[in-house]
Amino acid sequence: MNKSTSLLLQNRLLTEEVKRRVDQIAAINTVAATVGNSLDLDATLHTALQAVVDVVGAEAAGISLIDEEAGEIVLRAQLGWVHDFVKERPMRIPMGRGMSGQVIENDDMVVHNNLDGTEDYAVPSFKEEHFRSIAMAPMHSRGEIIGILSIMSHRPGRFDHDVVEVLRAIADTVGAAIGNAKLYEQHVEQEKRLDAILQATADGIIATDRYSKITLVNSAAEQLLELKAEDLEGVPLRKAPMHPRVRDQLLMALSIHEQRGDNEAFEVELENGRVLAVTISPVYVESQVEQDEHMDGWVLVLRDITHLREAEIARAEFIQAAAHDMRNPLSVTQSSLNMLATMIRDGEASEMIEIAQSGINRLQQLIEDLFNLEQIESGANFHLSEVNVLELCQEVSAEIRGLILNKKIVFQYHIDDNVPEFIVVDRRWISRAIHNYLENAVKYSPENSEVQLLFYTQGNILHIEVADNGPGIPPDAQPRVFDRFYRVNQEDKKGTGLGLAIVKSVAEAHGGSVYVRSKPKQGSTFGIRIPIRQES
Ligand code: ATP
Ligand code: MG
Repeated sequence: MNKSTSLLLQNRLLTEEVKRRVDQIAAINTVAATVGNSLDLDATLHTALQAVVDVVGAEAAGISLIDEEAGEIVLRAQLGWVHDFVKERPMRIPMGRGMSGQVIENDDMVVHNNLDGTEDYAVPSFKEEHFRSIAMAPMHSRGEIIGILSIMSHRPGRFDHDVVEVLRAIADTVGAAIGNAKLYEQHVEQEKRLDAILQATADGIIATDRYSKITLVNSAAEQLLELKAEDLEGVPLRKAPMHPRVRDQLLMALSIHEQRGDNEAFEVELENGRVLAVTISPVYVESQVEQDEHMDGWVLVLRDITHLREAEIARAEFIQAAAHDMRNPLSVTQSSLNMLATMIRDGEASEMIEIAQSGINRLQQLIEDLFNLEQIESGANFHLSEVNVLELCQEVSAEIRGLILNKKIVFQYHIDDNVPEFIVVDRRWISRAIHNYLENAVKYSPENSEVQLLFYTQGNILHIEVADNGPGIPPDAQPRVFDRFYRVNQEDKKGTGLGLAIVKSVAEAHGGSVYVRSKPKQGSTFGIRIPIRQES
């Protein structure tokens, strides 16, 4: 052989080798592209089998998966076999037995090119398939063996080195696809479980995405709102076919969250007279792709508190009546005590009278508060007038100066530029409401903490907020703090639990509402929102 002939031969061999490699890679790619398309486990198994048979040119193929719990290797999908070993005669091979056991144990391929039917198979009926060649490759997913990919032929000597190498690579591609499909299956199952829980809870739950489009409505929410989930899901909240009052309240609450993002609780009364306590919580997700935490939507929890409200009304009526009856005897007692005080000079007796006086004063304050509530609720003595916001702010700030100095509180007020100079409100009641918020903030916060009074507008809504960094209010108590006589911690500080109920009545008398955002140990923000009126 001369030099040029041998070069030519070498060249041809090299070309053939390259072509062979390219074919192999193409085969592997074909399988990868086909199986990577599906997240459904069964579909993945079947496409994988079809792709394998096509590219390696085998007559039959099978995929077995490891069942860890049962300690078996189970045939999950087959193609080109005579008998059904998946459903009719399930092929379950105990771990460690047969050729399958060998593949798993050694984490390596098993290839036989001259089976003659006399072999002792772990599943004897496998003989009936009359396969003469078989190649089995372990499949991996996330670094672990999850099963076996096998190809079979009825002719001997079918699977040469090249086919075996391709099968090895394909097995792992298929393994990864199966791993993904399994993960997805788990995810779907978890979602189903979660959905079952959501549907079974007594609380109404509505979830939205970050653009406030409704994504989920559970059956309790359907019942509370007398609406069907399918009419709400997929609809932006602002277009949702629910009662406008409820919708507006929800929208208002969500719009504040765009800036802040804490829980918020408030109440709404439905057309049918039912009262709902609503808690809104933003949902944050950690994104692996964007590597940060961002707001993904809101969850609204609706609780029917009509029975609580009814009980509160009954209680209020009773107390109102009792207070009425106490008013006269109290003022008689008070004037008698005052007279006694001017008559008696004895030190010890004067002291006793003083104690009695202060007790009577407290009682009178309580009764005054009850009457105040009754008045605001009945609308008696409700007078709208144009009020200068800055003046109002300075006035209420001056009123609580004494308390602030006493506790060395750092106090600040701020009026946003967009707040109109004049607002139309009942001056007396609004300043009383702000006063109650401020009084609480100072009363419940520790010394040297900060309290802020803030006026701002959002669209046509005026917000008046008092923020503190005091003890905060536990989430379960938040929907109830505005109830009459409700006090989070009965022993804590003096008080009757009417302060916030008065604020709520004042806000409602102005066509608005109240809200609280609070995190225990971090502080509270109490707010009033009222529509801005142009004229009285
Ligand atoms: P009063 O009728 O004298 O105001 P009170 O302050 O107890 O009595 P509310 O003002 O209605 O009643 O407040 C109700 C409860 O809410 C309080 O008892 C307190 O537990 C809680 N609370 C109110 N404001 C705050 C705040 N800023 N920080 C922490 N807890 C608060
Ligand atoms: Mg109070």
